[in-house]
Amino acid sequence: SPYVTASDRYSQVPYERCGRSGLKLPRLSLGLWHNFGGVDVFENGRTMCRAAFDMGITHFDLANNYGPPPGSAEANFGKILDLDLGVYRDELIISTKAGYDMWEGPYGEWGSRKYLIASLDQSLDRLGLDYVDIFYSHRPDPDTPMEETMGALASIYHGGKALYIGLSNYDAAQTRLAHEILDDLGVPLLIHQPRYNLLDRWVEPELLPLLTELGVGCIPFSPLAQGQLTSRYLKTIPTDSRAGKGGFLNADTVEANHPKILALAEIAEQRGQTLAQMALTWVLRQPAITTVLIGASSVPQIEENVACASAAGFSDEELKAIDAACA
Ligand code: NDP
Repeated sequence: SPYVTASDRYSQVPYERCGRSGLKLPRLSLGLWHNFGGVDVFENGRTMCRAAFDMGITHFDLANNYGPPPGSAEANFGKILDLDLGVYRDELIISTKAGYDMWEGPYGEWGSRKYLIASLDQSLDRLGLDYVDIFYSHRPDPDTPMEETMGALASIYHGGKALYIGLSNYDAAQTRLAHEILDDLGVPLLIHQPRYNLLDRWVEPELLPLLTELGVGCIPFSPLAQGQLTSRYLKTIPTDSRAGKGGFLNADTVEANHPKILALAEIAEQRGQTLAQMALTWVLRQPAITTVLIGASSVPQIEENVACASAAGFSDEELKAIDAACA
């Protein structure tokens, strides 16, 4: 029988205005970087997307290269739209990006007009969509003039293939310049997607204040440090985990961070939260943050994470203890 979403789906996750735009995003968004590719079990990814939407997670984050193989996460999400979620298209925010290595030759990565426009057309094809809600430049290109990359984003925006424009992995100076060029081209910058979590705070001194000043939203990726800031690695490295499978997170990193993780888990327990929930609450405490972009390999993980939305804030004492645990 066809999928019907939960009628109470808008009661669990609050929605926050994205910068000074008209768009509200759920405080938790779901990313499809891992566990939604051609190598993964399709029905598991499908179940997670349905469950997330049932919990009020309206925002799904993709990129051209997510898989593996590259492109397969978009193709799978296109299938999920076709099977289940597509009838709710106007309740969904679907994002994709281009910037990393996608196809062979000089036009398959970075920030040229040639690459960005071709890549979005390919993404729309895989997704089976006429437009995405947000299109990102996935990383700054040191060798392409910023005017060219932003010009391509502006063409995409004015042509209606993306409703909003975002940047990812741009530092504060690059973001200020990009914002200025987009502004001249009549394109509002909606959102910035940087890495931010308890173990990596590079955004705090310059980028977050700049985004607040410019009225640009912020959606940090890897808020759980790829699963390190959860119960996943408290005792061992499970074989079915990201570090266990080997890839972007390796066992050495997990082992090096283990003492910090144990200390943080203890603070979380005293707060009556799981470590994952505390890590998300900690990122969301910053007024510059619109939504946290989580990954997941199962529905219970998403359920656990969504429960952070109702958590209490931090006392100064707790924040100090957290900083000490991370030092
Ligand atoms: P997280 O830091 O949220 O890590 C997600 C992983 O943590 C899951 O795959 C799972 O690991 C584990 N996990 C999540 N919740 C729980 C829980 N409650 N208990 C135990 N383990 C849990 O984020 P990601 O690194 O996955 O990044 C999120 C998204 O951000 C990506 O999907 C992508 O959309 C985006 N991203 C963007 C980048 C960019 O350059 N713009 C770069 C990286 C990510 P396991 O699979 O081992 O179970």
